[in-house]
Amino acid sequence: MSTNIKVVCRFRPPNSIEQRENSEIVVSFDENLRTVMMRSSQALAGPEKDGFTFDRVFPPGTKQHEVFDYGVKDTVKDVLDGYNGTVFAYGQTGAGKTFTMMGSDIDDPEMKGLIPRITEQIFQSIVESDAHLEYLVKVSYMEIYLERIRDLLAPHNDNLQVHEEKSKGVYVKNLSDYYVSSAREVYEIMRQGGNARVVSSTNMNAESSRSHSIFLITINQKNTETGAQKSGNLYLVDLAGSEKVGKTGASGQTLEEAKKINKSLSALGMVINALTDGKAKHIPYRDSKLTRILQESLGGNSRTTLIINCSPSSYNDAETLGTLRFGIRAKSIKNSARVNTELSPSELKALVAKAQGANTKYQQYIAALEAEIAIWRSGGHVEQADWATSDKAGTPAAPPPKKAPTSPTPSSVRSMTPVNPALEGLRNDLDSRPQTPTVVGLDKDEREEFLRRENELSDQLAERESVLVSAEKLVKELKEELAFLKEQEASLSKENKSMSGNLNELRLQVERLDYDNKESMITIDILKEQNQDGKNELEELKKIIADLKAAQKDASAEDKEKRKQEKMALMMAKFDAQGTFSEKDEQLRQLLAKLDTIDNDASLSTLSHDDIVAIRRQLVDGQALIRETVDRLRQSQEENEMHTRRRDELESRVSGLEAEYEELLEKTINDEEVSNVDVAESMAELKNKLEAQYAAKRDAHVGEVQISSNSSKLEATNFELSMLRSTA
Ligand code: ADP
Repeated sequence: MSTNIKVVCRFRPPNSIEQRENSEIVVSFDENLRTVMMRSSQALAGPEKDGFTFDRVFPPGTKQHEVFDYGVKDTVKDVLDGYNGTVFAYGQTGAGKTFTMMGSDIDDPEMKGLIPRITEQIFQSIVESDAHLEYLVKVSYMEIYLERIRDLLAPHNDNLQVHEEKSKGVYVKNLSDYYVSSAREVYEIMRQGGNARVVSSTNMNAESSRSHSIFLITINQKNTETGAQKSGNLYLVDLAGSEKVGKTGASGQTLEEAKKINKSLSALGMVINALTDGKAKHIPYRDSKLTRILQESLGGNSRTTLIINCSPSSYNDAETLGTLRFGIRAKSIKNSARVNTELSPSELKALVAKAQGANTKYQQYIAALEAEIAIWRSGGHVEQADWATSDKAGTPAAPPPKKAPTSPTPSSVRSMTPVNPALEGLRNDLDSRPQTPTVVGLDKDEREEFLRRENELSDQLAERESVLVSAEKLVKELKEELAFLKEQEASLSKENKSMSGNLNELRLQVERLDYDNKESMITIDILKEQNQDGKNELEELKKIIADLKAAQKDASAEDKEKRKQEKMALMMAKFDAQGTFSEKDEQLRQLLAKLDTIDNDASLSTLSHDDIVAIRRQLVDGQALIRETVDRLRQSQEENEMHTRRRDELESRVSGLEAEYEELLEKTINDEEVSNVDVAESMAELKNKLEAQYAAKRDAHVGEVQISSNSSKLEATNFELSMLRSTA
């Protein structure tokens, strides 16, 4: 029996954006909760003016269990009895599809959605079922994104193909399934699948709102008494957001991707249009993976509920209107659900026995007909009462008639064409799968061949697609590598240019440094020579000082008197040598001469008073001079010692500096030879270093040499000379 699919409409409460935007509520509901009146920004015409009527409307605030109780509970019962069932959630992103299907918390008795409730009901019903009924429940979870079917329980299987076989109907090949024995196990699997969805959405840069998720529960029921089996598939579908995907979507898809994202949803719309058109001969189930998988759910063998989810706010009124229209169209789809059954052996035996009885009866009927025909053919006549009929089959044939027969009307013969209802029934029972609506107009053998070929081709397509995907990946990688290499090449050639510029600059610098170096070497040689000269001079000075010291020592060793005499003699000699006599000196001479004569004459009477005064004065002067000379001598000795110390010090400093300088020079030249790596830097550094060191050393050297050799030499010499002079 065909029934319309059930369409219910659920409104969620206004969300925070809508509240923030001070959005108005634009929907109202009739008291029977079947019709939605909409105050739309778009002008509504025709029947839309009077509202959109569904099987049930759930206003904002409707509890999860109310939706379940009304929308889905019966479907679960049917699936347990061997029917196929489907629950779709349709609507724009954020309209509450996932809230409806899964709920905001599957562990919360209030908030859990339809899938947890369905699961619980299934296991509850199994527990409560008759003892002779055995159930097997298995689940699968898949996602369709960009027209690829991905197994959420085996996420590496991401390009599964839809197949159809006479015995199995439409199914997803290689989709993994798990047998489950409790609601907990189902939840665990749902969580696993949900995680795979989340991971993939970040990996593939796709939002889960752009993919369709399908949770499939298959229930096999076996009657242990009769051996009869029934199986029902329940598809629970959370569709992608029904809003249009822009060409430049936020998730950055290309136009091709955007088309693919829309493809399954628009194919769903087309299938619904074709199903409700009445005239359409072709239903485009094969236009998308979604419609192909769910082809039994739409216009086929399934009890189907569509839940359309909407926003009640003016902020989303255009999308809400689109959703309501979709629901209205879907409402007129008619499905023809029946039990998917496999007969038990005893049922089959009964059928065969029945068929055999019928067969015997018909054999007899045929025999009677053949006998009657033989009479007619031989020109005989058979009374109408004796004509062979199916009712008389099994009873002995009438005796041959005597009269020549009249020609039978073909129609009467045709009308008696044997129809074996038992065989027909058997065939119908055994061939319980429906004809695929898209393979109409083919006979049975052709249809099977068509499906076999289609399956083959779809497998080949999957293989090709996989190859294509990996080739595309490779191309993408190669392109990226190429772009990277090009970039690198560009930056390298840029670097090259600047390097060669730098190199030229460095070459120039090296040449300049070479030149500077040579100059420095020359300067160093000159300095060395000068240094040698300085050293020689120093040696000479040392000698002189040593002589002087020796002389000094000798002088200090003799007694004072002797020294005085020597000094006097020296002075006299000097005076003699100089030949210049002052008046005082002349007087002194005369006095001395007089004193000599006194010594000779042994008489002091010749000395006048003036002479004595003059002698006394001369003596006083002489004493003062001697004292002064002695002082100066002492002072000179001290200064001399100090200068000697200083000179020694300076000498050792000079030789230290020289050694240091030579070492540094050698080291710097070595360094420069070794560190040719960073030519520019080392050259510049070397140059600066050399210059600085050279300047510092030169200054130091010149200063020290001057101080030590010139100033010390000259000062010491002057000093020594003046000291000697004064001593003399
Ligand atoms: P969709 O799956 O259609 O994109 P969701 O189910 O994720 O939308 O819902 C979007 C948000 O709105 C979620 O935070 C959800 O909890 C909330 N929501 C949806 N429907 C309802 C409702 N009927 N009652 C309360 N909150 C809801």
